[in-house]
Amino acid sequence: MNRRHFVKNNAALICLSQLAVLTAASCSTISGGPLKKIRDNVGYFEGRGGTIGWFISKDDGIAIIDSQFEDKAKELIQLIDIPDDRMIDLLINTHHHLDHTSGNIAFKGKVRRILAHSNSKVNQVKTARAKKIEDKQLYPSEVFRHELSVNAGMETIHCMYWGDAHTNGDAVIHFQNANVAHMGDLVFNRKHPFIDKKNGASVSGWINVLNIARSYFDRDTQFIFGHSDNGFPVTGTKADLLSMQNYLEAAVDYIQDQKFKGAKKENLYLVRSVPGADEFKGSGFKRTVDAVWEEVF
Ligand SMILES: [Zn+2]
Repeated sequence: MNRRHFVKNNAALICLSQLAVLTAASCSTISGGPLKKIRDNVGYFEGRGGTIGWFISKDDGIAIIDSQFEDKAKELIQLIDIPDDRMIDLLINTHHHLDHTSGNIAFKGKVRRILAHSNSKVNQVKTARAKKIEDKQLYPSEVFRHELSVNAGMETIHCMYWGDAHTNGDAVIHFQNANVAHMGDLVFNRKHPFIDKKNGASVSGWINVLNIARSYFDRDTQFIFGHSDNGFPVTGTKADLLSMQNYLEAAVDYIQDQKFKGAKKENLYLVRSVPGADEFKGSGFKRTVDAVWEEVF
């Protein structure tokens, strides 16, 4: 058995002790079905809720990004189909929202480490207490503040935090060798986003984070997005990051202008799309209005 370790290569954490070995049968699962491959050993699972990303390597281990809900997480674990005596090496939460973390509980006793940004863990605990669902949680075992790399044999999983955006704890996860990045809910692909002001979201910060992401990644990077709408996929390229950024900028311009002209906030709730970002349409603009209204004068 070729035993490799997930090891830290910067100041923050992670040395995972033993690699989960896949059976030949489980590897063949990945060629089709719900585990959609993007590149090399990295792919995604749509299920229900925030899109799950995965790294599954016969030699280098298993890492899962986000966990949706308990039933969907169990389905995913079954699809991965590892032997009973093997553990999944790593689960990472991109942020605390329940459609990304409720499935953590399905990994209890099956995963070695759960990793998230420190604010994401705080928010997860706070939300669970408020909703009285603490018994349904499995919290991150380790957190990071700025960035963290995890070596997984031929792959390096690099976690980055670029500031307040969709929440105050959004991690971007880059599989550097495959050059695939999970953006969490930093991209709602052509869908009016949820902007969680109660948990530190910032529209101006979000625009800044997308700017950073667009300069950090290259033309070859493939992305996984938390959500999509209007027939658009949950995967894409830097062009989709720009589209998301344009939407937020157009929404700020539009809402600020309307507020300046004396419009009532409630009158903007039923707007379907804003000038300059008409691919984002349908219901849900109220969430953007409420968030932007707080930030502009
Ligand atoms: Zn979210």
